[in-house]
Amino acid sequence: MCGIIGYVGKRNAVPVLLYGLQRLEYRGYDSAGIAVIEKTDRKIIVEKQVGKIKDLQEHLWNKKIEGHTALGHTRWATHGAPTIENAHPHTSQKGTISIVHNGIIENYLELKKELLDKGYRFKSETDTEVIAHLFEDLYTGDLLETAFKVAKKLRGAYAVGVISTYEPDRIIGIKKGSPLIVGLGKDENFIASDIPAVLEYTKDFIALDDGEIALVKTDSVEIFNINGKKIEKKPFHVTWDVSVAEKAGYKHFMQKEIHEQPRTIGDTITGFSSSKDDQLFCMLKDVDRLYIIACGTSYHAGLIGKFWIERFAKIPVEVDYASEYRYRDRIINENSVVMGISQSGETADTRFALLDAKKEGAKTISLVNVVGSSLSRETDYVLYTYCGPEIGVAATKTFTAQLVSLLLFALEAGVKKGTISFRDYEYIYNQLIHIPSKVEDILGKDDQVKEIAHRYMNASDFLFLGRNINYPIALEGALKLKEISYIHAEGYPAGEMKHGPIALIDEKMPVVCVAPKDRFYEKIFSNIQEVKARKGKVLSVATEGDSQIKQISDEVIYISQTIDPLYPILTVIPLQMLSYHIATLLGKDVDQPRNLAKTVTVE
Ligand code: GLU
Repeated sequence: MCGIIGYVGKRNAVPVLLYGLQRLEYRGYDSAGIAVIEKTDRKIIVEKQVGKIKDLQEHLWNKKIEGHTALGHTRWATHGAPTIENAHPHTSQKGTISIVHNGIIENYLELKKELLDKGYRFKSETDTEVIAHLFEDLYTGDLLETAFKVAKKLRGAYAVGVISTYEPDRIIGIKKGSPLIVGLGKDENFIASDIPAVLEYTKDFIALDDGEIALVKTDSVEIFNINGKKIEKKPFHVTWDVSVAEKAGYKHFMQKEIHEQPRTIGDTITGFSSSKDDQLFCMLKDVDRLYIIACGTSYHAGLIGKFWIERFAKIPVEVDYASEYRYRDRIINENSVVMGISQSGETADTRFALLDAKKEGAKTISLVNVVGSSLSRETDYVLYTYCGPEIGVAATKTFTAQLVSLLLFALEAGVKKGTISFRDYEYIYNQLIHIPSKVEDILGKDDQVKEIAHRYMNASDFLFLGRNINYPIALEGALKLKEISYIHAEGYPAGEMKHGPIALIDEKMPVVCVAPKDRFYEKIFSNIQEVKARKGKVLSVATEGDSQIKQISDEVIYISQTIDPLYPILTVIPLQMLSYHIATLLGKDVDQPRNLAKTVTVE
């Protein structure tokens, strides 16, 4: 889940790397480092620091390092603690080859033993260091040729950047399983884990596919497969600019992204409608089962998608955690469709599960936010959310956009299958286009939510309850709070509470109840009374005008009225705001919560 960047070109690489690493910091932030081929004596200088990029920046402040070929890395440790020794880049014994790596080398113990037997000494506990020694061990006099040999020995998932004093004019990039793009500049070129890292310098990119190796020099980029065959790849151009990856006056990316939702929901409605793939919806006519696989917040979007797809398109849906789906006995045939949901389009669990299902004959769909991402290239059909980059580790705007895409997917499939009428479709669509302004109204209640956050921020546990289509919102509310405030929270179907979790309720327990005025209102109203009867503190999310709920709630956050199926897109907003405020009041780092990384490219 690390971020990697490489630069070769006319300017001094160091500021370019530091700028890029800051934009990749969402991918990992326990330690960071750079390796630069020094301009004058052509030796590799490696500087590393435990902590965030700003710590590395401070460390480099007075060091006058200059070079035109270099690599940078921000780490999310998988093998070995976050220490200077384990931080990347890792360098070969002679100091002639440096590498950065994102992923896991699954056969590293075997390779390490072979290298130890040959007399190589290891400085770190990482799986990564074997790559540096392997490069030196197998070096043929040609770095590219050596990369083909090294790649054939590695198992697992990796994106690797390599530089060497033997051939100081080039970077080698190797991709299998973890993301890697090449940025195309004028008199300079880049490799990186993600586009924002180099967006300041170029808008033209090549996305590497698994098993591809890039040879990147100042004035040329060539791509090869692992057997050395040259591949022609079409570059793509991105239209968004660097400002979308800035905080734009907000205190945190998460806050900015919460407040961007009226726009991102609107853009996703328009984007979906203007890029409808007729073939996809024709294909859905013959489908007898749809599997949705995802992780984290995307999994919650999938759970809500199930309600819509079953209701409007009458296709039975199973929703699974990707990491579980991959390893269970799946029943797949040519009429099965598997949809993977992943903001980044790089989530390893989701990707590998989808690739397995594809091999077994399923048709595959991805729902991603990143154009050109691995999932979008590997599946038969792609649906997009139109959010621009999401930097805050806790997903917010991409969740609501995923909901919009899933709803429109279900409606479109329903119309094509004849399971809903065009009139019903239009009715729901016309309600949907009012959702952005209703989200805007909820965002206007920021001060009220902050006051509530203040009153409950010291609770040690929270319970979140919802019913039916709003039950996954309870799960999402609990996940948001856990992720960024580190407060223990559980989401539950409100009707299930009496079968266990009700035992937890006492006067210290805040219970967040998602209770819009839909057809389950009376049911959840009774469940709230059960909480109140046990002295729990009730924080309700309710529909404007519902005065009855006030009588049994300690706090009420009102949302505008809408039709039943659309409520989840609104009810989640106050929960995002609540966890944001609780976490910031507790002084937590909401954009980079401990132990987490935005894009989880390891299994
Ligand atoms: N496995 C490498 C390490 O622990 C890279 C980790 C990653 O990409 O998340 O250093």
